[in-house]
Amino acid sequence: MTATAILIVEDEKIIARGIEKQVTAMGYTVAGSASTGEEAIQKAVELRPDIVLMDIHLGTGMDGVEAASRIHKQVDVPVVYLTANSDNFTLQRARSSDPFGYVLKPYEDKELKTAIEIGLYRHKTEGRLRENEQWLTATLGSIGDGVIATDKKGRVRLMNVLAEQLTGWRQADALGRDVQDVYRIVAEESRLPVLNPVLHALKKGAPTTLKSGTLLIDSAGVERPIEDSAASILDAGGKASGVVLVFRDITERRRLERQLQEHRHKLEEANARLEMLATTDELTLLKNRRAFQVRLAEEIERSHRYKMPLSLMLLDVDHFKQFNDTFGHPAGDCALQGIARVLGKHSRSTDFVARYGGEEFAILLPNTDQCGAVVSAERIRRAIAEEEWPERQMTVSIGVATITATTRSDTALVEEADAALYRSKRSGRNSVSHANESSPSAD
Ligand code: GH3
Ligand code: MG
Ligand code: MG
Repeated sequence: MTATAILIVEDEKIIARGIEKQVTAMGYTVAGSASTGEEAIQKAVELRPDIVLMDIHLGTGMDGVEAASRIHKQVDVPVVYLTANSDNFTLQRARSSDPFGYVLKPYEDKELKTAIEIGLYRHKTEGRLRENEQWLTATLGSIGDGVIATDKKGRVRLMNVLAEQLTGWRQADALGRDVQDVYRIVAEESRLPVLNPVLHALKKGAPTTLKSGTLLIDSAGVERPIEDSAASILDAGGKASGVVLVFRDITERRRLERQLQEHRHKLEEANARLEMLATTDELTLLKNRRAFQVRLAEEIERSHRYKMPLSLMLLDVDHFKQFNDTFGHPAGDCALQGIARVLGKHSRSTDFVARYGGEEFAILLPNTDQCGAVVSAERIRRAIAEEEWPERQMTVSIGVATITATTRSDTALVEEADAALYRSKRSGRNSVSHANESSPSAD
């Protein structure tokens, strides 16, 4: 370690030499000496000593207090005054220049050594403190959240730049104020004041987090949705010496969340529409064959699992080709729509009505046995036959099948209903046949 280098400022040469001898004997080195304030400043800048021993009275030019304050502005060197001027005014001036110590002449070796060592030590610790503060300020400044630290009474001790922006308070104006004046929060819906998290943390000693739906009102009355948390600052003995409050503006996040919600909603609507289009028959607005196949498989599964009956009706419009040929295809379309309406009107809400293809329709009747299904089919057949159709009377032939222990598959059930429908056609149309009966029923 190199010896401490001292700059001696003294206008009287003999005294200066005496000091030189003294400090050399103490183990320090003399970096240089100056006899005027101007020279002192120049040498302090040039030589960068570890410490300056400064006489206050320096002949006719600037005095030692002035020289010390100018040195402080240019270089970070501690100054210790050595002075015989012990009048109050001089001492007052010397003190206000924030010296690292002063020794009144005449002094003893021990006093001078102590003053030099204390001056050096203070300079070192203050330097460290300053470094820590700079580091803390830089850290807090680079955080993307507002930070307010308070003492144990909830008075503001520190704010970072973001906290200043969000509260509208400058740290200089907020220092020492109750945190509730600076950090004003209300519940978004009720607009009632919310318990300040700082007070909560002070009371409970545990970190707290704000519920969402809190607004921060800045000094100009501007409101922002925020999210925050507060934690106690504990001293070396584990006692709370204050609270640090961290908060952030969530306006942008809210906006994005809302946007996301809207997109999700639109997507759901589009999906529902697509799903609807994919399962709906365009002409009759009944479910289409695809939807029917899916539902048939589900109902068969359910029927087996819960041991419940299930019946299926297949309906085919009689002589429809002839209808088209006579009245035209558009009229045929209208007739199919009319039949769909009758089917909807005369089936139960639990029944599943679909356009099976062309002029064929299918109705699934859950929890319906053979007898019930035939009664339903008969009701539908009659409703169509008795409807007042604009062009001519319309009739349908119906084949019904009911699931049994032996009908395991959907194709088997459809085939049975189809076969029954074929029998209805063969027996003269406008009639109902059940797969388990040999002769169809009709008017
Ligand atoms: P059957 O009594 O034996 O059922 O005789 P049909 O004439 O009804 O049977 P066929 O299978 O010979 O003819 C069915 C007709 O249904 C032929 C076709 O043009 C008509 N058709 C199928 N789909 C539509 C449609 O969407 N609109 C119209 N207008 N006609 C359709
Ligand atoms: Mg047909
Ligand atoms: Mg037909």
